[in-house]
Amino acid sequence: MDFGFSEEDKMFQTMVRDFCAREIEPNAAKWDESNEFPRETYKKMADAGLCGVHFPEQYGGSGDEVTFTIASEEISRASAGLGVAYLVSLGLAMYPIVMHGDEGHKGNYIPRVIDGSIVAFALTEAMAGSDVAGLETRYVRDGDHYVLNGTKIFISNGAEADFVTTFATKDRSMGYRGISAFVVDKGTKGFSVGKLEKKMGLHPASVAELIFDDCRIPATNMLGEEGKGFKIALQGIDASRVSIAAQALGIAQAAYDAAVAYTKERKQFDTELARLQAIQWMIADMATEIDAARLLTYRGAWLTKKEGHAPPKEAAMAKVFASEAAHRVCNKALQIFGGYGYTKDFAVERYYRDQRITEIYEGTSEMQRWTIARQILGTK
Ligand SMILES: Cc1cc2nc3c(=O)[nH]c(=O)nc-3n(C[C@H](O)[C@H](O)[C@H](O)COP(=O)(O)OP(=O)(O)OC[C@H]3O[C@@H](n4cnc5c(N)ncnc54)[C@H](O)[C@@H]3O)c2cc1C
Repeated sequence: MDFGFSEEDKMFQTMVRDFCAREIEPNAAKWDESNEFPRETYKKMADAGLCGVHFPEQYGGSGDEVTFTIASEEISRASAGLGVAYLVSLGLAMYPIVMHGDEGHKGNYIPRVIDGSIVAFALTEAMAGSDVAGLETRYVRDGDHYVLNGTKIFISNGAEADFVTTFATKDRSMGYRGISAFVVDKGTKGFSVGKLEKKMGLHPASVAELIFDDCRIPATNMLGEEGKGFKIALQGIDASRVSIAAQALGIAQAAYDAAVAYTKERKQFDTELARLQAIQWMIADMATEIDAARLLTYRGAWLTKKEGHAPPKEAAMAKVFASEAAHRVCNKALQIFGGYGYTKDFAVERYYRDQRITEIYEGTSEMQRWTIARQILGTK
């Protein structure tokens, strides 16, 4: 068995790390403080070739799910806020187009993302969180158009998105069979951004309400077959779970690196923290958890690359383990910093806040466990 990256992957990882050290990491605390989305830096990421990393070559892409996972980890290690904007734009929000769009959709939207367009995935509603089949946004056919009405909440990139993939039902009584997928461009009449959430972490990335009010879109904006939207949404979420695992891994790695460095600088009782056994055990546990999370995450990426789609059980295992491991690692890192860890003078405070959402979005830990158990037991 070979657990290593190919030479190409290693070179790509070095290139992304250098980019992040130069352009992202030095500004991460500032963006966290100002809640500012660094659009210029995002464009630089695109210009550096980071936004094409898993799209088909025929549309200008390169790389695969492993390179996308490497980039998602490294960008999130430098700034998890920018990380979510990136992995939603390339992953979650684009899977419906890449997997189910026609040539027209792919030829139009993929090159735009490679060039730095931001994308959102608008599924969640007030009454449809974990239970997405309960969504209430409606669509009706009107000649060559569909008309959408409803409100989505908690949408990452909602304020910045140049276009969104979204889901609506023809008839709620049809349950999940009534749901179809659509793409809607920014600026479409009847489509607007509502309330912006004030949140605990990921400050540079917006989370917004999106409102469809008699929003007319060409009928060609439906993605895939009518009535298959629920399946399209779940496939996209399965695929993107690996990138959220990578985000959690990146945050955990950053917290661990900071903690290791601090144990060698800080002295108490005339000795470095690194020489205290209680601290050593924390470092050992953190390193072990990160290793295990990394193995599960890259197994998920490798399987997705090999099979052409994310295996639900392995993707859910990677997400639930990496996000909860990141929770434990960030908690220990903050503990190692003592009182200083609780201040904004050190980045561990930000890592601790940014990590928390990885256990909630794109399926809570409870939903991941449900997915894993259903795959094992064959239950519904
Ligand atoms: C910062 C942020 C960004 C987000 N970005 C996006 C986005 O880009 N696009 C999008 O569509 N959505 C997005 N979301 C929404 C997110 O995916 C949902 O919040 C999440 O899926 C949980 O839904 P909920 O909040 O309604 O919780 P609920 O579904 O109400 O769950 C509440 C609690 O009950 C538990 N629970 C629910 N059902 C079960 C069950 N059957 N068995 C066991 N436990 C259960 C949950 O695990 C949770 O602990 C985002 C949310 C946040 C906070």
